[in-house]
Amino acid sequence: MAIGIIGAMDKEIEGLKSKMCNIESKTISGITFYTGSISGSEVIVAASGIGKVSAAICTQTMTLVFKPSAIICCGVAGALSNSLHIGNIAVADKVVQHDLDTSPVGDPLGYISALDTVELSCNNSIVIALQKAAAIIGVTFETGTIASGDQFICSDLQRSRIKSHFNPIAVEMEGAAIGQVCSMNGIPFGIVRAISDGAGDDSHISYDEFAVLAAQHSVEIITQFLLEYKEI
Ligand code: SAH
Repeated sequence: MAIGIIGAMDKEIEGLKSKMCNIESKTISGITFYTGSISGSEVIVAASGIGKVSAAICTQTMTLVFKPSAIICCGVAGALSNSLHIGNIAVADKVVQHDLDTSPVGDPLGYISALDTVELSCNNSIVIALQKAAAIIGVTFETGTIASGDQFICSDLQRSRIKSHFNPIAVEMEGAAIGQVCSMNGIPFGIVRAISDGAGDDSHISYDEFAVLAAQHSVEIITQFLLEYKEI
């Protein structure tokens, strides 16, 4: 069975598409899914579009149509860990939705009613294979919670609010939506992100400058991951 790989933006999957053999494409609900293989591993690659809704549509469609054995989300993110810098890698061991808020009726912030939880765990074999891939490539990486929400985080205030609630290592806009869809369909998932900015007051400037480069780093990790994951 093939492994699904989802980025939000074309710039996050272009590098993967260029490595694919026997590439074919199918567009469903406005999202183009590319099937083929990378170093002998069957893959389905798609750019979902930005945000949790687009990511959920992409993941559910991929699940129903292509029946992947696992789904990996790749791309770029803002760093919340002070030890992660531009180009470093964040590997999620769990994901949260920092903007899902039913706290006025007594739930904890980020509570996902459908699954009766705040945190969604990534698949341990995927986490280990992503860590191995980062170590082999020789890039600095950290493992921890990745927080997702429908905002580009671009202020010290927003940054510290998310940090104080969830203590994540990085923030982005899709991973936990992919995690929720995978959890509800019983599909193992993992998230790997290269740091494009610091999610603080000037993160839009850093993002503009580094997103393309960071996206390339995440593609390198995925390529190595596909070799590591085969061996597990
Ligand atoms: N129109 C812009 C939109 C970028 S939104 C573009 O196409 O480049 C930022 C994307 O990168 C999202 O997919 C998100 O997952 C990730 N990201 C990077 N830094 C982020 C931050 N500081 N806050 C939230 N998401 C971030």
